Amino acid sequence: MDNVFLIDKEYVANTYARFPVQIVSGKGSTLKDVNGKKYIDMGTGIGVTALGTANRKWKKAVKSQINRFQHVSNLYYSEPCALLAKTLVERTGLKKVFFSNSGAEANECAIKVCRKYGVEKKGVTAFNIITLKNSFHGRTITTLSATGQDCFHKDFTPLTEGFSYANANDFESVKALVNKNTVAIMIELVQGEGGVVALEQDFVTKIDKLCKEKDILLVVDEVQTGNGRTGKLYSYMHYGILPDVVTTAKGLGGGLPIGACIMGEKVEKTLSFGDHGSTYGGNPVACAGALAVLGELNETFLDNVNKKSQYIFNSLKDAKGVVSVTGKGLMIGIKTEKDARTVVNECLQRGVLCLTAKDKIRLLPALNISQKQLEKAINVIKEVIGKE
Ligand SMILES: *Cc1c(COP(=O)(O)O)cnc(C)c1O
Repeated sequence: MDNVFLIDKEYVANTYARFPVQIVSGKGSTLKDVNGKKYIDMGTGIGVTALGTANRKWKKAVKSQINRFQHVSNLYYSEPCALLAKTLVERTGLKKVFFSNSGAEANECAIKVCRKYGVEKKGVTAFNIITLKNSFHGRTITTLSATGQDCFHKDFTPLTEGFSYANANDFESVKALVNKNTVAIMIELVQGEGGVVALEQDFVTKIDKLCKEKDILLVVDEVQTGNGRTGKLYSYMHYGILPDVVTTAKGLGGGLPIGACIMGEKVEKTLSFGDHGSTYGGNPVACAGALAVLGELNETFLDNVNKKSQYIFNSLKDAKGVVSVTGKGLMIGIKTEKDARTVVNECLQRGVLCLTAKDKIRLLPALNISQKQLEKAINVIKEVIGKE
């Protein structure tokens, strides 16, 4: 075990503060470390293993695709890619899908779509995109530029031009940034990394209306909120809006790297031959995994996500040491009197893996976690939070 820690520390870039845990196997919402200690997984690799670890249907789909072929370039057709695009279009009401390998790349695609739409509709100076303070859109230079948090910008300037940042839930601050060069407003409906904060309905309704009036594209970053995470297939479905562009990744592949930029009617023809591409984009194994994930996310399944969400909110909202519980569905932020990092460390000691977001504890359990495991984990979390 020490050996892996040491090798990793010596050879892997120093970008992650890892917990001293080496996972060797897992099933469902249970992960096992190299010492045989078991954990309940309340983080799912940051919202990625949406159906838990080694889900039977997901594994079957992935294995059967691997047995056929693992990759062909985008020079040829493949069934999983075509079927996944069809599923995403049918279930969102949008029109076309570009596949990438990560959330940041899905957002890069969305930004390219906005820029080209701007050039074509409003002229070459129209490339301004409004995002929100406290947002998170990725780590590439351009998605970092879209991210409205100075702490991520530090040391990486100059940033990509054309981004300005409004305050979440403050419509006047959005309006103040709009001008003739504004091509898009890009938002997360539940800010994930920013502390699991859902935007207010009224704010979102007003943005949607403003976008329609001024021919501004509404881009919703569903990288974290997508694929059932908030109790609807996509979080925009809570708000009674249909964005022009939706990006998603994290939970989509159920553990394999895939991202998608889903484009609506206004921009379905914006990208044409040669405008964009990705060698791995639409990889058949990742797409087969994603089809298995989406295949599970029916009405009954999502009802259960909402029931479990209610259970968590009810258990924690008045618990000792809890300041607030925020979020939607199984994307939950808990502000505690105790330091969040301390809570996460103590939970880990007691066999429950949690995440943080800013100064909060963040929970992103598997969408199909059993009620029994969920109760066990929540009881541990509650005890840790309540203990001085
Ligand atoms: C995680 C995340 C991203 C970045 O996704 P990567 O796959 O890490 O590139 C972008 N937007 C949001 C909202 C995210 O939560």
